[in-house]
Amino acid sequence: MITNIPTEANFYKSAARFLTAAWEEAINEIESAFYDEVDGYDNETSGDEADGEEADEMGADEAGTDEAGECDALVTASINAFTGIEHLLRARITAISPYLLIGDCRDWPKQCDKKDVPFGAFKTIDAQDLIKACNTVGAARLPEDFLDSFEKLRIIRNSLVHSHGSNAATAREILIAILRSTHILVGPLAWIKWRREAFQATHGGDDMPSWSSVMNKELSLAVFSLGAKDCNTYLKVNKRTRFYLCPACIQRRTRYEHKVMLVDDTQGMAQLEDPETIYCRTCEARASSPW
Ligand SMILES: [Zn+2]
Repeated sequence: MITNIPTEANFYKSAARFLTAAWEEAINEIESAFYDEVDGYDNETSGDEADGEEADEMGADEAGTDEAGECDALVTASINAFTGIEHLLRARITAISPYLLIGDCRDWPKQCDKKDVPFGAFKTIDAQDLIKACNTVGAARLPEDFLDSFEKLRIIRNSLVHSHGSNAATAREILIAILRSTHILVGPLAWIKWRREAFQATHGGDDMPSWSSVMNKELSLAVFSLGAKDCNTYLKVNKRTRFYLCPACIQRRTRYEHKVMLVDDTQGMAQLEDPETIYCRTCEARASSPW
């Protein structure tokens, strides 16, 4: 008998852990690039310049974060991002049957037919076979753009892990890989929801910034880095139009923020939903338009 069989929820939880580590590292790199550029900031330092058809392809040239591809932090982030996406695929397969993850029976542990063996002792299928399994047993096949970006990230990851390669994914590529994989494998805006829940769980009290201020800052940096098409697809915001700080996010500010002023008013994530209403992507609140 096989013991300690993982569940779909186990894999989602570990996926979130790996993807969060990768995301936070990439955001840190983007923040450094942003503040390096901020004195001479113009649109050429943001994802705006890569907003054409090629903007959403892995490897698209983006100023501000490209040179950071050589950064050690992005090596770890690339590996974590790939591992997280692998776990999302495992979750999807486990929803049908965890036994689909177990490889060739010739590789099964010795004596596994004579005593209980934990699931972790079995060799499981590799990354390429995860895609094959998903597309074979799933209700819908995975889209081509996901398969392309997964393969490119797999090559980067293998180069870093097995061949001492030094060319990590860029911070922007890591953000897109995380947003695209969660969008497709979990659901639209799933990543925003996970980040919101994580910030709400870790930020409380008057001696630290409010969860929504920290999330506003993070999303502002993501928007700075991403092209308009990716912002629209994965964050459901229009990079080309004005952002506002929503009244609910202002209300949530803590004494710490009022005292230290770590977060500024340009980091709002609310936009006009209709002529009378603004909607905040961070806290999901609606308010009357400022006009
Ligand atoms: Zn808000």
